[in-house]
Amino acid sequence: MRSIYLSLGSNMGDKIALIDEAILKIQDLGIDLIARSKYYQSLPQGYVEQDVFVNVSILIGTELEPELLLKELQRIELELDRKRVIRWGPRTIDIDIIWIDGYSSDSDFLTVPHPRAFERAFVVGPMYDLPINDEALKRNMSSAWPKIKDQGIQEYYYDYKSVKS
Ligand code: ATP
Ligand code: CA
Ligand code: CA
Repeated sequence: MRSIYLSLGSNMGDKIALIDEAILKIQDLGIDLIARSKYYQSLPQGYVEQDVFVNVSILIGTELEPELLLKELQRIELELDRKRVIRWGPRTIDIDIIWIDGYSSDSDFLTVPHPRAFERAFVVGPMYDLPINDEALKRNMSSAWPKIKDQGIQEYYYDYKSVKS
């Protein structure tokens, strides 16, 4: 059974519901959800004229081969109506494979560790809520964090005003 860290992000529509739905769909594949982070919010990077992101990281356990897992994750993105309009632009859901304990891959289709993950507070921050067993992952996180912690992620808070009837 491989231990795999995923990052989920949404900045369109009902972001919380989309993330929860994606996690349910991942579990529907027979994949174990070992741990999930709290919800975090972060400002968009790169293309900034868009809504804030909600991000969650999860730790899953699965026997699925990583390429097959990524194909399934891409299918879930499509099911949740992901539109690929602008690179790094708004999307209903983005699911990235960040890290797999004891495994790496260097193809265009699947690069693991994710090549940009450790430059992103919205990826690394939520991972601190998860159990980390791989010493190499621990080292990567603790060397990355001081450089990225000021990017401004915070725990997500519900806007009760907007849901009040
Ligand atoms: P970024 O990769 O910088 O986070 P993005 O998530 O917006 O940007 P996408 O358009 O979702 O980029 O993905 C582009 C391609 O990245 C996909 O076709 C996928 O095959 C490839 N890819 C390579 N490695 C990974 C990985 N570890 N997790 C998810 N997708 C990956
Ligand atoms: Ca991404
Ligand atoms: Ca992606």
